[in-house]
Amino acid sequence: MAKLLVANWKLNPIRETEAVRLARASDAKGVVICPPFPFLKAVGKILRRAKLGAQDMFWTEQGAYTGEVSPQMLKKAGVEYVIVGHSERRRWLHETDEMIGKKVVAALKAGLSVVLCVGEPISVRRKGLAAAKRFAGTQLRKDLGGVSHLTSHISHLVITYEPLWAIGTGRADNPRDSAAMAHFIKKMCASRFALRDLQVLYGGSVTSKNIRRIFEYNEIAGALVGGASLNAAEFRKIIAAASAYAV
Ligand code: PEP
Repeated sequence: MAKLLVANWKLNPIRETEAVRLARASDAKGVVICPPFPFLKAVGKILRRAKLGAQDMFWTEQGAYTGEVSPQMLKKAGVEYVIVGHSERRRWLHETDEMIGKKVVAALKAGLSVVLCVGEPISVRRKGLAAAKRFAGTQLRKDLGGVSHLTSHISHLVITYEPLWAIGTGRADNPRDSAAMAHFIKKMCASRFALRDLQVLYGGSVTSKNIRRIFEYNEIAGALVGGASLNAAEFRKIIAAASAYAV
């Protein structure tokens, strides 16, 4: 099965010219590129094969919400995917599951594909995989509480399992454990939300060196890539690894 790669550039790069150069190098089928908001237009303009994604959005169309961006604005800018609930937003912006749940519903209603991120801190993982499953399960129940009536949009939902301690640390999860988490997420979403054929990605210190071992597992439908997506040569290698699964 084809593997999906979502490139999360976070607050990088500094200049638009760099963003455009990086996007050109990353422009491949099965890739979603998520630049900072001010670079969306310039990056979207040059993409031929990759899709354009955003790193966040707000849940209403307009109003007194200083600094926010609506799903409709993103759609008009050519965005097809949006990351929701990234752990950095949960941590630095204090996004709650309630806020994330509203974003998921608003994005799906607007016709965007949602990449929802869940995952446990190290204190939880130290207690074992069962504890990690309970933690991610609770996040999913809250974050997806409003999706049950969105049956026609639900196929546009993608979940990323991102153990917090693996993000940006160079310490990726053991792929066997990530696959077990992905399996749990798929099973839970199938029984609770009737979500069939859900794509579950892995995120956390993915590199060209570990991507093949991660992709060996069928339960893992792709990867959310942060740091390694900012290095064109490195990301090309990750794309090459993913292309072995192209259909
Ligand atoms: C991320 O941005 O979600 C991420 C997984 O980052 P990194 O690949 O750098 O760990």
